[in-house]
Amino acid sequence: MLGRWTVASAALTAAMSLAADCAWADPDFNNRQDFDFAQRGFVGTRADPKITAADGRLVWDLTAYDFLKGPAPATANPSLWRQAQLLSRAGLFKVAEGVWQVRGFDISNATFIQTKTGWIVIDPLTSSEVAKAAYDLVSDKLGKRPVVAMIYTHSHADHFGGARGMIAQADVDAGRVQVIAPAGFLEHAVSENIIAGPAMARRATYQFGSFLPKGATGQVSAGIGQAVSPGTQTLVPPTVSITRTGQELTIDGVRLQFQLTPGTEAPAEMNIYLPDLKALCMAENANASMHNVLTPRGALVRDAKQWADYLTESIRLYGDKSDVMFTSHAWPRFGRAALNDFLGKHRDAYKYLHDQTVRMMNSGLTGPEIANRLALPPALADEWYNRGYYGTLSFNSRAVYQRYMGWYDANPVNLAPLDPADESARYVAMMGGADVVLAAARKAYDAGDDRWAGQLASRVVFADKSNTQAREFLAKVYDREGQAAESAIWRNMYLTAALELRSGVPVQRGAGQSIDLIQNTTTPMLLDLMSVRLNPEKAGAGSAVVDLVFPDRKERFRVTVKNDVLTYEADPKTGKADVALTMPRASFLMAALAGGDLKPGLANGTVKADGDPAVFTKFLSWFDAPAGNFPIVWR
Ligand SMILES: [Zn+2]
Repeated sequence: MLGRWTVASAALTAAMSLAADCAWADPDFNNRQDFDFAQRGFVGTRADPKITAADGRLVWDLTAYDFLKGPAPATANPSLWRQAQLLSRAGLFKVAEGVWQVRGFDISNATFIQTKTGWIVIDPLTSSEVAKAAYDLVSDKLGKRPVVAMIYTHSHADHFGGARGMIAQADVDAGRVQVIAPAGFLEHAVSENIIAGPAMARRATYQFGSFLPKGATGQVSAGIGQAVSPGTQTLVPPTVSITRTGQELTIDGVRLQFQLTPGTEAPAEMNIYLPDLKALCMAENANASMHNVLTPRGALVRDAKQWADYLTESIRLYGDKSDVMFTSHAWPRFGRAALNDFLGKHRDAYKYLHDQTVRMMNSGLTGPEIANRLALPPALADEWYNRGYYGTLSFNSRAVYQRYMGWYDANPVNLAPLDPADESARYVAMMGGADVVLAAARKAYDAGDDRWAGQLASRVVFADKSNTQAREFLAKVYDREGQAAESAIWRNMYLTAALELRSGVPVQRGAGQSIDLIQNTTTPMLLDLMSVRLNPEKAGAGSAVVDLVFPDRKERFRVTVKNDVLTYEADPKTGKADVALTMPRASFLMAALAGGDLKPGLANGTVKADGDPAVFTKFLSWFDAPAGNFPIVWR
């Protein structure tokens, strides 16, 4: 089953919104524990609901989700509506003696641990503007104290990007602020979005509903938080690396113990236990939703078994000595019994997902067949935190399949499929033409069979993207699938598809590149990025050998293009390049990745060429600028 809600008809959607207000067998809408946990310890919030960037651009609006205050409308799944109500509670909360959180200022939480003289901050949100607002709120309500240490729980931007809103590099350099992260943090923080960056960024606008208006018919949540703050992303590189489970630090009187959990939700991640406070930080390894084993925006597939195994270790190490558990998203869980019940059943959900997917896989079922059959047992499905507000059981089962088996289902008919547009055109013609197929799609829609209606209408649109009738009808199908979806990101993806079918691909706002991220990207990573932009049609079997010398980094790389392939080596010992260019690395980046020109630099002497600089100009003409706005739901 895909889940009773994802295939609901309009009538069922209406019935569900009624159900939100009365008894609901499974899960239990009358169970208000989450509302208690999400509200407990509320201290207060900002007076001014708007948080803006230096240029006046709105980064966050604390009133943006006020529309959630009423009961679920017919245009939203009541279970998702409930989750969004919980996640949109914003402000400063006291979690335990000495532990506070600012929640609802971004998709993630910033946690403040009181030390003798200041604060340890765990995870400074995504952008510096909201991070500063969080710190200001803490200062306002609890008194101004310096940040003496910052901890990044893992390598995703929503857990480090706000750093410079709370700490200054000079204080880090002077040793006044320690910056602590799990082993491998910096490499993964910069590398995760490089190679596949443009495709991931485009797909992320679907996942997060970036172009949707916030409201009862638009974006209502991102499932693990409300939305990602679109402010200035920064990165203060760590000064302390956590390399093993059991490692301890004492910072300004506060003892910290670490559990490394690489390869779970992020390639570099860790949990933190505070023995004197009996408080456990589970980073993003435990959440108020099932998480993504594979994110729809795209990413390397994660390991559900490893995730479950690390949760087992957390329970063993800290379960019987923790009285409160808090996380990098959503609300804390209070009391030893409640947090252990949560950790155990949350672990079981990932373990069940993994084990039962593999069992079905080994019996011969393939991706969609497993996704249609896999359901959590009631004891796990009835817990709100195991529901698929972010990742879904359906999508995740396909991730487990992919991890072990890849995309191929072993049926050779799928070895060399036609292009979807070609295949669709042939199907539509064979079935009697677009009108006949659309009529069948409308009949399916009227019967509440949205998945089949969408399949048929999508074929018509792929066969002919200019068929406006088909586009409008398909948008209507996606509207209803989005509105019925329990997953916030499924909703966002359906509704974004509908928006684009009606009004085309929106122009991307220029996502300001983070200077901090670029500066911390190694030259080999940047050359890897150039490699995947090399266009054989432009290179036309040309060849070039260019030496790049960056005195500011004491680096020398030989870059060779031959056979339409870019390769490179550091510190070449033999042979000679067509041209050797000596310059600051920033000048090369401007020329290679941002359409800059080396001529002014050559003229004023900041760039020196040994050999023919025209070779470099020719070399640069062989690379594509990535297209950030490709179509997704038509061709
Ligand atoms: Zn996160």
